[in-house]
Parts: sequence; C-alpha cells; structure tokens
Amino acid sequence: MQTASARISLVIADITKLDADAIVNAANTSLLGGGGVDGAIHKAAGPQLLEECRRIGGCPTGEARITRGYNLPARWIIHTVGPIWRGGVDGEDELLASCYRNSFTLSERHGIKSIAFPAISAGVYGFPMERACRIALREMKAFLEKRSEMETEIIAVCFSGSAYRCYQDAMQELW
Ligand code: ADP
Repeated sequence: MQTASARISLVIADITKLDADAIVNAANTSLLGGGGVDGAIHKAAGPQLLEECRRIGGCPTGEARITRGYNLPARWIIHTVGPIWRGGVDGEDELLASCYRNSFTLSERHGIKSIAFPAISAGVYGFPMERACRIALREMKAFLEKRSEMETEIIAVCFSGSAYRCYQDAMQELW
C-alpha cells in the first residue's frame, strides 16, 4: 500500500492542461469567472461552463460546487471559494481548510480518482503562500490517511518555482 505522501504529486503546470478526473478552481463567490486560475479555467473550458455556473447561483466562502469540465481534458471542475487574506485573524485558516475538505467530499461523491488543486487563495486573495501550502498539504494528507483503501491521486499544482519550493518545504515539515 502506498503512503499518503506517495499519492500526492507536486507539479509545476498550467492546471487547465492536466488530464485528471477533476481540477479544482479557486473561484469567487459569484462563480462567474474572474482573474488568475479562474479566468484561465473559464477560457479553456468554454462558454458552457459559465452557463452552468450561472444556474448554480454562487457559492459561499469555504464551500465547493461541481460542474462538468466541458472543453478541458478534466471531466469535472470543483469550484471552491477561498478566503481573502485579512491578516489571519478572520478565520482564514479554517476557511481555507474547509475548501479542501469540501472539495474532497464532492470528489468522493462523484467517484473521482485523481484531483488537481491550485494553491487556493495564494494569488489575488493574498494568503501567504507558505501558510497556504501547509494547510493544503495537511488536508490532503488527512484525506488520504482516512481513506487508505482508496486509490486517489492528488496533484498539487504550482504555477511558479517559488510555489513549488513552498510545497516542498511544507512536505518536509509534515512527513
Ligand atoms: P485566489 O483568488 O484564490 O488567490 P488566484 O487564481 O489569484 O486565486 O491564484 C491561486 C493560485 O493559482 C496562485 O498560486 C496562482 O499563481 C495560481 N495560478 C494561476 N493561474 C494558474 C494556472 N493556469 N494553473 C495553475 N495555477 C495557476
């Protein structure tokens, strides 16, 4: 049996290009698209994604919603809304952890076996990258450990070398 760390891969990539069962979008509460990874996902998935998101009607911070992947290689998109960083005193850590937990709940419900995450909140929303990576990995590890019988691959997608190094440091701390 593989260990939890063996089922988390760390890659530098554009998440829209990944051929995973699901990719996760760092969305905003409107779910109607935006900048950063959200804009890239909407652009690559095509206009049908926006139509489906409109029907969903938004998503509160910390929660997640699922749509089809349309023109993406990924079959599913899990949209989750990370917290805006306000100095760490406004429940940001817990809300970010909820994004990962709620995304995993949806992935299990849909039989998703491979899921790729961007560094939620660590872009425009200003969450410090090191702290965001630590929370992300802690939640990924907890999910895999609870379900050690399941074959789930988690891909932590970095968009820069500095994000990659933050994840590597966090991995060393946690394992
Ligand atoms: P947020 O608003 O939640 O901070 P952003 O999209 O601004 O979301 O950034 C989240 C993370 O996603 C950042 O680390 C950013 O560098 C990264 N990112 C942006 N575009 C992509 C992409 N195409 N693929 C993977 N990661 C991306």
